[in-house]
Amino acid sequence: MENCVFCQIIEKKLPSTILYEDDAVIVIKDRAPKAPIHYLIIPKKHIPDINSLKNDDYSVGSVIFKTAQKIPSLVSQAENFNLLVNNGFNAGQRVFHLHTHFLAGKRISEVG
Ligand SMILES: [Zn+2]
Repeated sequence: MENCVFCQIIEKKLPSTILYEDDAVIVIKDRAPKAPIHYLIIPKKHIPDINSLKNDDYSVGSVIFKTAQKIPSLVSQAENFNLLVNNGFNAGQRVFHLHTHFLAGKRISEVG
């Protein structure tokens, strides 16, 4: 998608700090971290949000969990974490390319 920030990051047309990447997913540092450890797990397929998932898309759920499991081996102090999907504008979603926040180093109740 031409106007999608995350698609542009995936295509390396925009800079980002990449922690991990494979054929299905990219993990980047959040530019405005809400916790000491804050990454975005972004499946490469452009799917706007959970509501837009089609039958062929549900494997992104596995991709997200599998990737979340990998992050603590790449980042210290990240064994305990929260995964968060903001789905829809009123829930705080600002980039309409499905992604999951990986938050660690702070309890989610303290994330402001
Ligand atoms: Zn996109």
